Amino acid sequence: MEKQQLLKQYFGYDSFREGQETLIDSILEGRDVLGIMPTGAGKSLCYQIPALMMRGITLVISPLISLMKDQVEGLNQAGIHAAYLNSSLTLGQYKKALLFAREGRYPIIYVAPERLLTEEFLDFALDTRIAMVAVDEAHCVSQWGQDFRPSYLKITEFIEKLPVRPVVAAFTATATKEVKEDIIDILMLREPTLMTTGFDRKNLYFGVMSPKDRYGAVKNYLDCHPGESGIVYCLTRKMVEEVWEKLEKDGFSVTKYHAGLKDGERKENQEDFIYDRSLVMVATNAFGMGIDKSNVRFVLHYGMPKNLESYYQEAGRAGRDGQPAECILFYSGQDVITNQFFIENNQDNQELDDLTRQIVMERDRERLRRMTFYCFTNDCLRDYILRYFGEYGSNYCGNCSNCLSQFEDVDVTEMAQAILGCIGECRQRYGMNVILETVHGADTAKIRGYRMNQNSFYGSLKKVPVYKLRQILQHLILKEYITPTNDEYAILKLTEKTKLLLEEGERLTMKLAKEQEHPAKVKSGKGASGGQTGGYRGSKGALLSGEGFGEKEEALFEKLRQLRTQIAREEKVPPYIVFSDKTLTHMCMLKPKTREEMLKVSGVGEHKYEKYGERFQSCILEERQED
Ligand code: ADP
Ligand code: MG
Repeated sequence: MEKQQLLKQYFGYDSFREGQETLIDSILEGRDVLGIMPTGAGKSLCYQIPALMMRGITLVISPLISLMKDQVEGLNQAGIHAAYLNSSLTLGQYKKALLFAREGRYPIIYVAPERLLTEEFLDFALDTRIAMVAVDEAHCVSQWGQDFRPSYLKITEFIEKLPVRPVVAAFTATATKEVKEDIIDILMLREPTLMTTGFDRKNLYFGVMSPKDRYGAVKNYLDCHPGESGIVYCLTRKMVEEVWEKLEKDGFSVTKYHAGLKDGERKENQEDFIYDRSLVMVATNAFGMGIDKSNVRFVLHYGMPKNLESYYQEAGRAGRDGQPAECILFYSGQDVITNQFFIENNQDNQELDDLTRQIVMERDRERLRRMTFYCFTNDCLRDYILRYFGEYGSNYCGNCSNCLSQFEDVDVTEMAQAILGCIGECRQRYGMNVILETVHGADTAKIRGYRMNQNSFYGSLKKVPVYKLRQILQHLILKEYITPTNDEYAILKLTEKTKLLLEEGERLTMKLAKEQEHPAKVKSGKGASGGQTGGYRGSKGALLSGEGFGEKEEALFEKLRQLRTQIAREEKVPPYIVFSDKTLTHMCMLKPKTREEMLKVSGVGEHKYEKYGERFQSCILEERQED
C-alpha cells in the first residue's frame, strides 16, 4: 500500500503535516533521519507509516513505559499489530510477546533501551530482519538535554551488533544545537536527512495574568470550562496540596501528583487523569513526562516556572490534538523569590566544582530573568517565546493575552514613507540596520562613512524607538513594499507596490503594542471577577468556537463525548485513544450518516470505523431526529 493510503486507512487522515512526508520518503529510501519537531507535530507517524511498508520489523526505542503503552494501544486501536517489551510485563508475557515477534506478527515493536543488550532480546534480534530502529525522544542520549538517560547509550552498541545495519531514525522536540549534534554523533547517524519544523504551536493561546486572588482566578477559569480536561502546575508540593484540597472542596473533579506521594497513589492519580475519571490534574513539574494525552484543553500555571524551556514544555502539553487550547500563567512576585531559592539551593549542582557551579547558577539566574520578563512584556507573548528559542515570527499573533488587549491599530503611513524615502534616496544600496540607524539619526562612524547623515530622512524618526521602527520595517517587508535581496547582505529594494504609499495616497495601518503599564499589573484588578477576564475566552470558547459550531453542535459534542467515555470503559483504554477531541469536533460539523461520510472525518480510519463507526452514527442520527 502507498503511504497516502495507509495514512487514510489506518489513521483516518487526509494529508500529511509539515515535514512528515520528507521524513517518511527518506526512511523508505534507506536514509537515516533526524526529525526535530515540536510536541504534537506528529513525529510517531513518521516512523509508523514506513514501518508498515518496509520488509522487516521496526524497533522503536522509547524512554518510558507509559509512552510505550499509549502508543501501542493507539496502534492496536487503529488495527495495526504492535507490542511493547519492557519491565511492566511478567516473564510469561514477555516470552509470549517475543514468540509472537519471531513469528512476524508485529511490524512494530516498542522496546525499553535497558532491554536491548539482554541475552534474550539479542537472541531474537540477531535472528530477525530488522528494517529500522526508531529512536523516540532522542534527546535522552544527550547530557546537555534535560532528560539524559544513560541507557540510551546502549542503542548504538546494539545497532552495531546487528548483522545488517537498519535505517536509524531519530526524533525529538528539543532544538538546541548541542543536543542536535549529540544525537547525530552518539547515535552515529549516517548523513541523516535533517528536518526541523517551526516551534510555533498555533493552536495554543498564551496568557499572563496577575490576579490578586490567584485561587479565585483558577476557580473562575474552571467554572468557565466545565467538562474540559486540564493541568494546573504549582511550584511546590505544598502548593499542590493546598490547591488540590480547595478545588476538591469546591466540587471540581480533581486529582494530584507530586514526588512526595507514594508510587501507587501517583500511578493511580495519573491514570484517573488519563482516563478522564478526573478532569483536572494539580501537579508539580514532576508530572507530565510521558503523558501523551491529546485532549488536554488547558494548562494553568499557578506560579511562574524557573525558565521558559520548562514553561514551554509544560504548557505544550495542552492541545496535542491540534485543537485550540489555552496556556495561562498566573504570576505573582513571590514566584521570583521561590525560584531564586531553588537556584541557590539546587542539590543537583552539589557535585560540581566551585567555578562550574557559579557558572551554572549564573546561567539559571539569567534564564529566570528572561522568564520573569515574559510576565511583564507588552509584546506578543508567542513572539517572545519563539525569539527565545531563536525563531523570528510576526510581532503580532492575535492569539495571546497581549495581542488581544495590548495592541492597537496604528496608522504608520508617515513613518513608512520616511523609511521608503530613505531607501530610495540612497539608491537601494543598504540593509536593514543602516536604514534604521539613518532614520533614527544614529551618530556613528558607519553612518558617517556611508554619508547617510546627509540623507534627507536622517533623524526624521528620531522620536520613535528603534524596536518599533524595526517592526514597521518588517511589516513593510511582509506586505511586500520592500524586498530584501536573497543573499547575506539582505539589501533592501523597493517594489512595485512602493509607489502606492509614496505617491498614490494609500494608507498603511498595523498592530502595534500600546504604550502603557506592564500587563501583569494592568490585569490584576480583573483577575477573579468573572466576565471578561484578561483575554481568555468564555465557556468552551477555545474548543468549540469557529464556523459551523452552534448550540446544536455543542450538544451533540457532549453526547459523542459520553459515548466515547462509555466505549473507552468497555475497551479499557483512555478516551482519546478511541477518538481525539478533534475527531469528535469534526464529526459534529459533518454529521455523517453513512459509512462513506464517516470515513471523511479526520481521524476515522477503516479499522476504527468497523469498531465504532455505527455507534457514533446512530448517536448522530438520534440527535438529528430530535431536531
Ligand atoms: P509528537 O510525538 O510529535 O508529539 P504525535 O505523534 O503524538 O506527536 O502526534 C500528535 C497528534 O497528531 C496525534 O493525535 C496524531 O494522531 C495527530 N497527527 C499526526 N499526524 C497527523 C496528520 N497528518 N493529520 C492529522 N493529525 C495527525
Ligand atoms: Mg512523541
